[in-house]
Amino acid sequence: MTRVLLVEDEPAIADTLVYALETDRFVVAHALTGGDALEIFAQQAFDFVILDVGLPDMTGFDVCRKLRENSQVPVLFLTARAGEIDRILGLEIGGDDYVTKPFSPREITARVRAILRRSGAVAEFSSSAGSPKSTRALQHDSVAMRIHCHGVCLDLTAHEYKLLLVLLENQGRVFTRDQLLEKAWYDPGAVTDRTVDAHIKTVRAKMRHAAPGAEDLIQTRRGLGYVLVME
Ligand code: CA
Repeated sequence: MTRVLLVEDEPAIADTLVYALETDRFVVAHALTGGDALEIFAQQAFDFVILDVGLPDMTGFDVCRKLRENSQVPVLFLTARAGEIDRILGLEIGGDDYVTKPFSPREITARVRAILRRSGAVAEFSSSAGSPKSTRALQHDSVAMRIHCHGVCLDLTAHEYKLLLVLLENQGRVFTRDQLLEKAWYDPGAVTDRTVDAHIKTVRAKMRHAAPGAEDLIQTRRGLGYVLVME
């Protein structure tokens, strides 16, 4: 039984989502405000939180920050603005994924399942043996300077693009954070290795968004750095 806390103030959206989630056999609690959500979350155990960014009493960002003080529960954001995506996925807010409005209820339940599969699998440091990966999982369009993930064009910032390109062009090679800073930033002195981690996180999230359920192509080598593996 998977318990989901849905935080959404628009009744029409909330009703549709509650119905879709319950049809998919999730147990759903619904909160209309950030304050209510935090209160309910403190009293009951949840496996997942779906969080609208625009709430009447506080932002979904504030709610997520509060949750993150003592919980690593997966958080899927509902946002009306594409401009909020980088903040959502950044270290400051700590969201796991996002869906932009308008969306279909099916899209939400599929994402919830994909995120739960990932968090349950703890695949961060797993061996890549035997995992089905398409060689076309990532494709670089050098003319347009864009990278496609499973056919979907990734909406990357300049640094994310360079970072992913370095990894993509050197598949199987492990890069330390310092090496990635040097290759993907013009002025590596101005940033820290935490910057690399933050950008890797947003790149991963954007790839997951492009291909829900697909495996992480960027692997973390603990104590060493990152490597992109496609088979
Ligand atoms: Ca809202």
